[in-house]
Order: sequence, then C-alpha cells, then structure tokens
Amino acid sequence: MRIILLGPPGAGKGTQAETLVKKLSIPHISTGDMFRKAIKEETTLGTKAKEYMNQGKLVPDEVTIGIVKERIAQEDCNPGFLLDGFPRTVFQAEALDVILKEMKIALDAVINIEVPKEKLIDRLTGRRVCKGCGATFHLIFNPPAEEGKCDKCGEKLFQRADDSEETVINRLNVYEKQTAPLIEYYSRQGIIKNIDGDQPIEQVLVQIGRSLGRNWS
Ligand SMILES: [Zn+2]
Repeated sequence: MRIILLGPPGAGKGTQAETLVKKLSIPHISTGDMFRKAIKEETTLGTKAKEYMNQGKLVPDEVTIGIVKERIAQEDCNPGFLLDGFPRTVFQAEALDVILKEMKIALDAVINIEVPKEKLIDRLTGRRVCKGCGATFHLIFNPPAEEGKCDKCGEKLFQRADDSEETVINRLNVYEKQTAPLIEYYSRQGIIKNIDGDQPIEQVLVQIGRSLGRNWS
C-alpha cells in the first residue's frame, strides 16, 4: 500500500504514522530520515544535500525529489510505503506522480488528518516548563497538581516563546496555506481520505483503517 500522510502540527500524525507502518508492514519514509540515510550512505544526491545543509541553505527541489526517487526504488518499498513530510508542494506532488508513473506504480491514498484549529491551539500552547528544574507539564495532558507550580521542586512554570499562541497560530497558518493546494490536487485525483483527528488516538486509527478498506476495530 502506497500512502501519503498529511496532518497539521498537533494532529498526532507521528503517533498514527508509527502504528500505521506496523499494521501495514511498510516503511515509514519521513523527509528527515530519508536525508539522513542518503547522507550516511553517501549517495551522489545525499552528498549534494549535505553541501546545501552545511551551508545552512534549503535543499533544492531537484535534489529532494531525486532522494525520494532513490528511496522508493529500494527493495523494502516493494510492498509499499508511507510518505511523511513529502510532498510539501504541488510541484513536488507532480514530480512524485512522474516518478511513480515511470515505476508503473500508483498511490493508494492520501490520508489527511483534520483537527479544528481551536483544538490544535489548545494542544500546542498547553506546554509549561519549570524555571527551576526544567520539568515539563501540559495543561490538558499532564497538568501540575497546583496551577503554575512545579510538582517536583515547587518553582514557577512558564511558557516557552515557541509555544505562545502567536507562534502557534502562525505555524498553523503556514501549514494551512502550504497544504491546501496539495489537498486540492489529490482531491482531484480522488484519493484524499479526510480523517477526523478530533477523537481518541485508537479511534483515529480505526477510521484510517476503514478508509483503506481494513477493519482494525
Ligand atoms: Zn521544577
């Protein structure tokens, strides 16, 4: 099964990816892992990517696409793969379609995990860190016994700048803007599976399974 997984920050995409690849016995191809592998194996493209990264530059599309091509041609991808973090743009999606066509294979599904923005903001802004010992808490998932106070050392808790509402909203907007054309692109191909991510993790997985014709309940 050949799948692309889409989902905004805070939607639990990582957790779902981990379980999905086990259930389907396919490799999880995240962009980061793919780059690390190509660099470690010193492939021509891996070496090129490393040069850009060392200079703090963005790796150009042609290199990224080449690395994806190398990766999905490897034997462990014969039964399929789960792509995570690629494609990010319609340009990349079109390039992927060309690669797949050359290989005479096709995508089975693009899973799009959806969570209402307010819920994502709550999830992503809830982290609190202790000034004293660095312990982390979460207002929803792991709240301290006493509001604003560390359970371990009693020091004050604070919110990191990365977790501020402004930063989080900005991140979500960037994601939305970037992903909307991709969703449209794959909708036109009729392979988008919209999944309600605003339910317990196990239920999300069941719904993903159902969208792929599997019964995981
Ligand atoms: Zn503390």
